[in-house]
Amino acid sequence: MSEAVPQPRRSTRAVDIAGVRVGGGAPVVVQSMTNTDTADVVATTKQVAELWRAGSELVRITVNNPESAAAVPRIRERLDMMGVPVPLVGDFHYNGDRLLAAEPACAEALAKYRINPGNVGFGKKRDTQFAAIVEKAIEFGKPVRIGVNWGSLDQALAARLMDQNAARAEPWDAGRVLREALVVSAIESAERAVEIGLGRERIVLSAKVSGVQELIAVYRDLSARTDFPLHLGLTEAGMGSKGIVASSAALAVLLQEGIGDTIRISLTPEPGAPRTQEVIVAQELLQTMGLRAFTPLVTACPGCGRTTSEFFQVLAQKVQEHVRAQMPVWKLKHPGAENLSLAVMGCVVNGPGESRHADIGISLPGTGEAPAAPVFIDGQKAMTLRGENIAEEFVAVIDDYVARRWAGQGG
Ligand code: SF4
Repeated sequence: MSEAVPQPRRSTRAVDIAGVRVGGGAPVVVQSMTNTDTADVVATTKQVAELWRAGSELVRITVNNPESAAAVPRIRERLDMMGVPVPLVGDFHYNGDRLLAAEPACAEALAKYRINPGNVGFGKKRDTQFAAIVEKAIEFGKPVRIGVNWGSLDQALAARLMDQNAARAEPWDAGRVLREALVVSAIESAERAVEIGLGRERIVLSAKVSGVQELIAVYRDLSARTDFPLHLGLTEAGMGSKGIVASSAALAVLLQEGIGDTIRISLTPEPGAPRTQEVIVAQELLQTMGLRAFTPLVTACPGCGRTTSEFFQVLAQKVQEHVRAQMPVWKLKHPGAENLSLAVMGCVVNGPGESRHADIGISLPGTGEAPAAPVFIDGQKAMTLRGENIAEEFVAVIDDYVARRWAGQGG
């Protein structure tokens, strides 16, 4: 890790989620959520496995009705048979108390329960339903995430804080009151869970909003007022580049300040796009910030008038796809390979220089240059590739380098 990366001051309290440590100085955990009908055991099992293979370390599934609650232990069983150990988190709203009471096998199969204090009933019912879910967590030895969301804020609490604000000599603006309501809801709910008997080491908090500046403000406040591990995510981030940019902008600021112990990127998938994109974005965010390494990343120049063919873009994409596909094997056989740095450059202007900074770099010929591509390994020119098979030969150079540099590790 570069010296320029500040050492995080993340939560000192660790929560163990079926072997995945969140907080307590552990690396920031990547999680994701399925969008299948949980009652569809085959489809949900398949998507959970895909998310895990992409690198998701926790996967959340909706548990919204008796059918989905009954499906959870069957999904867990199938995943275990497939050798997919990823812990499952149950997302409960409105009826979690009844579903957990009716399906003990579901309560057992889940590694964590997510409770939204704004969606567990109203008035006295709210307190009893919240308590019932917490009691199930205690009974089954599970941690919970108390996940507040401004789309479903506890209305009684919001009204109470509005009244308090009206009595202030200098009332806050509505946005500040709303942020305060989110933070207070998360903290008061956590303290209520502790009073009921849940250990502090079993609680993760989140307080999600959909605005970048609001999210940063809410989490700064939350992290200053509690030491429970924090789950970060910009809710309803949106589709495509907007969702990626907004999530990255918000989470990067917080992570850089040492805030956040686990993250999810809530992307709306484009039609036909794989659900796994949210996992890749989360990994790339952590990796480009120097906080974790998951898979070798390719540095590529943007191209310009000196690159009149698409070849270097095609090569950069091929290389990135190749190393991502190889990573599950490399993780076992060549641990450390995730730190490999690669460069694919379009011409002689910055090509050799950037390639020398990478472990392996290739400088392709720009328009008017001789049709030769020098390859640099560990800063030294190692060979020149020519002809039709540059992509295949360059990929072979990468595989050979990984096998040599991280040889004899794992098994
Ligand atoms: S390295 Fe060459 S092709 Fe790539 S952006 Fe720079 S000048 Fe253009």
